[in-house]
Amino acid sequence: MGRRRKRRKPQLLRAPRTLPTVFECPHCGAKALTVEINKKERNEKGEVKAIIRCGRCGLYAEMWVPEIFHPVDVYSKFLDAYLEGKIEYSFTKEEASISLSELASQEAGEEEGEEAVEGGEAGESREGAEKEDRVW
Ligand SMILES: [Zn+2]
Repeated sequence: MGRRRKRRKPQLLRAPRTLPTVFECPHCGAKALTVEINKKERNEKGEVKAIIRCGRCGLYAEMWVPEIFHPVDVYSKFLDAYLEGKIEYSFTKEEASISLSELASQEAGEEEGEEAVEGGEAGESREGAEKEDRVW
């Protein structure tokens, strides 16, 4: 009856987060396209889910990619698929800016539900948001 040493609880294995990298959006041309690789979601082929999102026009797409993919690989694969019309994408406008504050909130590990936005009825973005605080 050996005394069992209490095993140290392994620290929560945190998958190293790939920092979102910013690329040029094929839709609006802004350098606001981020790629996030979610290694927690896998399909039966062992591929992981990549999320492509543009902070400017709201383009949003999901792709299954091999785990070894880097954001830049995802981006080029996405570009090909986008240009060939082989990828489903939608436009979301949940947050106008994907910025450092989002990076911080990712720590919380919240997962978005699968909201399939169907029908491309994304409202046109209004550019006329001028401030009306002229003081005479
Ligand atoms: Zn865009």
